[in-house]
Amino acid sequence: MLIEGQIIRKVKLAPRIKEIELYAPHIADNVKAGQFVILLADKNGERVPITVTDWNKDFGTITLVFQEVGVSTFKLGSLNVGDTLTYITGPLGNPSEIGHFGTVACVGGGVGTPAIYPVAREMKKQGNYVITIIGARSKELLIYEDKIRRVSDEVRITTDDGSKGKKGLVTDELRELITSGINVNRVIAVGPVMMMKALAEVTKDLKIKTIASLNPIMVCGMGMCGSCRVEVGGETRFVCIEGPEFDAHQVNFDILFLRLNAYRAEEQTALKRYMKMWRLANAE
Ligand code: FAD
Ligand code: MG
Repeated sequence: MLIEGQIIRKVKLAPRIKEIELYAPHIADNVKAGQFVILLADKNGERVPITVTDWNKDFGTITLVFQEVGVSTFKLGSLNVGDTLTYITGPLGNPSEIGHFGTVACVGGGVGTPAIYPVAREMKKQGNYVITIIGARSKELLIYEDKIRRVSDEVRITTDDGSKGKKGLVTDELRELITSGINVNRVIAVGPVMMMKALAEVTKDLKIKTIASLNPIMVCGMGMCGSCRVEVGGETRFVCIEGPEFDAHQVNFDILFLRLNAYRAEEQTALKRYMKMWRLANAE
């Protein structure tokens, strides 16, 4: 019998990027595109927010894709099929605003690509013409292309080094798309903060409604701790209960970026300590 939070499938998608499928029937039953979970990989761990990329209500499973960037995501990545998370809660956050807008550009950068997948899928189901732009630093880090193709009318790819698709950034591709005369009615973006900031700058003058799914440091996920506060339209908003999607033209991305990096030194120290312990444990 499966236990809630048990890993039933694990795939390495790219260096340091993993996909896991978990048994979580309550979440699978209720989750909608754009929502996330918070999990604990082990009992001494931190709470880790991760977007739900896919789900299967019949099997009671959810799929998560994550990048190993620090201690908690490395711990998560070290779990194997059959292992069970200490804790998982969700679905959290508000679902994406899905509607019939016309032509929708879905933009995913890095591990934002799996997160944009269910949004593109639902946008397509609503009859929108979906153009998905996905980007990564290089071909090896480009993930979810096949899944994205299945739910998009058009897919455009960029890599920073030109190893696949066009050389450049997703922002360049969006600008090119718009200037080529395609009438884009809405843009929705998930990815690194600076990518979303640049996209918002491209669409602001053109008055194209642009939604960004924000990923600040988040702890409780229930609107109590305030860790995930961001400034939107000059006001403080909590991403966990009021987001994660906001009007990108109103978001103060510079504050978001600063806050995301506020604990960088401590995180680096913790990661070095963890790696040392891991090497010692595996050398014995
Ligand atoms: P650390 O070494 O602790 O930190 C590395 C960097 O990650 C930090 O500098 C900071 O920028 C960020 N970070 C650290 N702690 C948190 C935290 N509690 N919450 C958010 N960011 C943090 N990542 C994915 O790979 N896939 C996803 O689908 C995904 N979805 C997310 C959805 C939401 C709503 C949010 C808020 C974040 C999401 N993230 C996702 C980011 C992920 O939660 C962080 O990468 C992870 O918590 C980092 O933890 P760490 O201990 O491994 O890294
Ligand atoms: Mg951490």
